[in-house]
This record gives sequence, C-alpha cells and structure tokens, in this order.
Amino acid sequence: MSQTPMRDVDPDQMTVSDEIAIEIIRMNKWFGSFHVLRDIDLAVHRGERIVIAGPSGSGKSTLIRCINRLEEHQNGRIVVDGIELTSDIKNIDKVRSEVGMVFQHFNLFPHLTVLENCTLAPIWVRRTPRRQAEDVAMHFLEKVRIPEQAGKYPGQLSGGQQQRVAIARSLCMQPRIMLFDEPTSALDPEMIKEVLDTMIELAEDGMTMLCVTHEMGFAQAVANRVIFMDQGQIVEQNNPHDFFNNPRSERTRLFLSQIL
Ligand code: ADP
Ligand code: MG
Repeated sequence: MSQTPMRDVDPDQMTVSDEIAIEIIRMNKWFGSFHVLRDIDLAVHRGERIVIAGPSGSGKSTLIRCINRLEEHQNGRIVVDGIELTSDIKNIDKVRSEVGMVFQHFNLFPHLTVLENCTLAPIWVRRTPRRQAEDVAMHFLEKVRIPEQAGKYPGQLSGGQQQRVAIARSLCMQPRIMLFDEPTSALDPEMIKEVLDTMIELAEDGMTMLCVTHEMGFAQAVANRVIFMDQGQIVEQNNPHDFFNNPRSERTRLFLSQIL
C-alpha cells in the first residue's frame, strides 16, 4: 500500500449531511458497442469523501467524467445538485460551474501565469471583475500554500506545485463538489504528500469529494466510503475499515492483494 505520510486527520470533524449532492440511477454508457458503465447506482450526500478504486480500465475515469458531462451517458439518470444532466446546454454550464475537476496531468495553460490560470474562467465565464477575481485567486493560492508563485508560469513549478495550482484554479469557481481523477499519479513520491494534504484540508472544510486514487492511505484516513469498480460495475462499497479488512467479493480481495 502507498504509505505516503500525511498530516493527521480528525474524521470526527467531517460531517455528512442528509442532503443529496449527486444521484445516479441505473446509468449505462457505451463507447460504440463497448458497454463501459453498467447499471451504475450511486447517491452521494453533501460532505461525503468517496474514494473510487479499481483496476485500470474498469471505468473509474469515465464515471466521474459523466458527472460533469465530459462524457455523455446513454440511459439512466444523473442528477447533480438537483440538475438532471441532459443534452440541454444550460444545464451543462450550470453543472460545470458547481463541479470542479482535477486531472492526473494538471491541464494548466502553459502560456498563462499561475494567477492568470486561476482568474481566466471567473473573468470569462462568470464575468467576475478582474480585481475581484484576482483577490479570490490569491485567497485560494494562499490556501494551497503557494501565493508566492502567482506570477510564475506552470513550467517553472514542480509537479506538486502545479497540481496545487490546478486545485486552486478549480476552487476559484466556488464549486460545491470536487472530482479528482488520480491527482497524484503523475507526481514524484516526495510531492504526493503536499497534494494529499491540500485534499485533506478541503475535506475538513466540508467539500463533497469523489476521488479516483491508488493512495489507499488517503482512503483510510479521509474517505467515509470506498467504492470498488471492476468491468464497468460498482462491485462493492463500504466504509474504509470494512472495505480493507473485510472485503466481501472475491474480485475486491484479489485487487487488494495486488495493491496492499
Ligand atoms: P479507468 O479510469 O478505470 O482506468 P476508463 O474509464 O478510462 O477506466 O476506461 C474504461 C474503458 O473504456 C477502458 O477499456 C478504455 O479503454 C475505454 N475507453 C475510455 N475512453 C474511451 C473512449 N473515448 N473511446 C473508447 N473507449 C474508451
Ligand atoms: Mg482512469
């Protein structure tokens, strides 16, 4: 298991509300004739920290990309913050502004400074005045502990710093839900901790989070629920303690024996 040290977490500080943030009902998706997601049912409550695990190719990325409509599902329903995802573009814009996403490969704009990366969408999508967008950006750059990098270009930063910029950039749109797709997989080991610590602080602030990650130490410390996917299905889900100590399905056991 990845034993990246992290700052101490107090899960009692993190509360889950009764309110539903994301509801997915019998959702299916195909890529051409390939049935990539099968009968996905998932209700995410506000304040939940869900870790999604599973072998490569099991559909983890596709599932979270469906939640902000980077991919379209073909049947079943996805409701995010009360908005059903349909082909109605207005709904998609609304959902994208509620849901932040952080990718494995940062996806920063290389020709813009850190500050400009953080203010671009607030200024052009939200029509926030530049000064105000810059104040908000500096607030979140302080939160991820790199305000001194604001004037630099992404290429001048380490991978860990770039990923923290990507997180700050997402937060500048004031999302209510954050999706992470293997945010530490492209990082050198010594940089993983700083990104996980940032994610822990977000969890402590009450952010609803879905994280695809192989960092099982993070899952044990922060998640209230671990979901295991295989071949396009949710095979098993449980609290971290029972998931790791008492996996129910043979497929989960096999997966855990390979990564732990
Ligand atoms: P994971 O994130 O769990 O590794 P993905 O969601 O990326 O899995 O992919 C699930 C399956 O769907 C894989 O077999 C992958 O090759 C396939 N797939 C992903 N994206 C596409 C696409 N745009 N077109 C066709 N097949 C895809
Ligand atoms: Mg993936």
